[in-house]
Amino acid sequence: MPSKNTTTEIINHNSHSTDQKKEPEIITTKNYIDGKWVESKSHEMLDVKNPATGKIIGKCPKGTSEDAVNAIRSAKNAFKSWRETPVIDRVQVLFRLKALMEKNLNELIEICTKENGKILAESKGDVRRGIQMLETACGMPSLLMGKSLEDIASGIDCHAIRRPLGVFAGITPFNFPPMVPFWFWPFAIACGNTFVLKPSERVPLTQQKIFELIEEADMPKGVMNLVNGSKDIVNTLCTHSDVAGISFVGSTPVAKYVYETATSHGKRVQALGGAKNFMVVLPDANMDLTAKTVFESCTGCAGQRCLAGSVILCVGDTYEKLQNAFVSKAKVAKVGDGLNPETEIGPVISEDSKNRIISLLDSAQEEGAKILFDGREGITQKEGYFLKPTIVSDVKRDMKIAKEEIFGPVICLGKVKNIDEAIEWLNSSEYGNTTSLFTSSGAAARKFSYEVDPSMIGINIGVPAPMAFFSFGGTKASFFGDIKAHGSVCADFYTDTKVTIERWVKDSSIW
Ligand code: NAD
Repeated sequence: MPSKNTTTEIINHNSHSTDQKKEPEIITTKNYIDGKWVESKSHEMLDVKNPATGKIIGKCPKGTSEDAVNAIRSAKNAFKSWRETPVIDRVQVLFRLKALMEKNLNELIEICTKENGKILAESKGDVRRGIQMLETACGMPSLLMGKSLEDIASGIDCHAIRRPLGVFAGITPFNFPPMVPFWFWPFAIACGNTFVLKPSERVPLTQQKIFELIEEADMPKGVMNLVNGSKDIVNTLCTHSDVAGISFVGSTPVAKYVYETATSHGKRVQALGGAKNFMVVLPDANMDLTAKTVFESCTGCAGQRCLAGSVILCVGDTYEKLQNAFVSKAKVAKVGDGLNPETEIGPVISEDSKNRIISLLDSAQEEGAKILFDGREGITQKEGYFLKPTIVSDVKRDMKIAKEEIFGPVICLGKVKNIDEAIEWLNSSEYGNTTSLFTSSGAAARKFSYEVDPSMIGINIGVPAPMAFFSFGGTKASFFGDIKAHGSVCADFYTDTKVTIERWVKDSSIW
């Protein structure tokens, strides 16, 4: 993660102090279809609010099926010539976009913080991870190569090549406005497909800016299309006969719905869902590092990461040690507007989200858990959706707070006798996104990696996020589909394999 000093520089360069005094400009998002900026056919507008102030900073159309159909048509029309463009030429546009993203880094970071609430250092990480996806997709000429074998039978050769499939669509969540769309589209289009993106209607402004850069990078018209809105767009993308596949990220109920709807309409689907992440701490762990790492995992991005730690399963005396360490850290954590470089924890996304987290904390108390530090109290900001870090102890496996995704800055502590009980507890969760073990024992680490269900595993790591060149995605209710996001396997998702088997009989009249 970037250092605080770097963040401070960004603030100074952008003169946030003067910006903050001005009334925010309200941006109405447009769609980008067939290389043109067009207004939605919908007259109904949704408010985009800065979660730190509660003020409206944008308007996003609710979107209509017609908007989605227009975007799909544009992508379909562009497919033939894009597919025939050599892959080394296709990736040139990604190289150009990378350069433009670097040039516009500070503006992108600021937009992300304003619409999502996360602190500037986190927004910087969010944009940076998006750029890394572009860099990895630039290697598509290698990733896209097929396989050949001579003499599969006497005098017969076999060649398997990858072919793009047509139009793909991406549907993305609010919590990583720049990064998550990049998990998909650079790979899809580098493979020769065309794309329709529907970002979260709660944070559409970052993608509005990124599409301006996509246009500036000379993306051929129709290859990348942006369509803003909510359910009606999603339903059209999942059911339209000209869409070959869907890449989705969001909550589990919607991931399941998208998976079932789109697969039943003949599409290939990768749908990444919600999470409930457990972290296990053994007595031989480095306790200072563990406390710092776990606290950051659970409270960074205000707990709104799909890889955020949620329930900490403590073996032996680590329970008391961590309780004390977390309470000390919670007391001094600086909660506030992410634009302020001093801030360590920004707001959650909305009033609804804040109320949902509060009601989960109420339910935990009713079920017998103890609140050691209550983040519902002591909020000084009158506006915005702030919660301080909250430390909950005596959490038991059957409590609502131990089972449901919280998506807020809450740390739940539970006691277990040993690593076996911890693994048994975390494997009983319906989710399987990530889990971490804190230990100094290699044998314990191996046992843990071997036996746990979640697919993304951390050993002394709090946020085990696979980088662009590895695959990202969980299991159980955290993932619906077969092929995960990015990494080399993405070429399998975005292409079909064609096999040609050849026999050439010698013509003795020529040679
Ligand atoms: P969400 O499910 O509310 O929204 C995701 C997308 O689905 C948005 O584009 C939204 O417009 C659309 N959508 C929402 N409701 C819909 C409906 N009823 N019908 C059709 N489309 C609908 O998710 P969110 O709140 O924006 O994001 C947070 C969730 O995403 C969390 O559960 C988090 O764990 C998950 N997430 C998962 C991963 C992962 O890698 N597994 C990564 C990031 C976020």
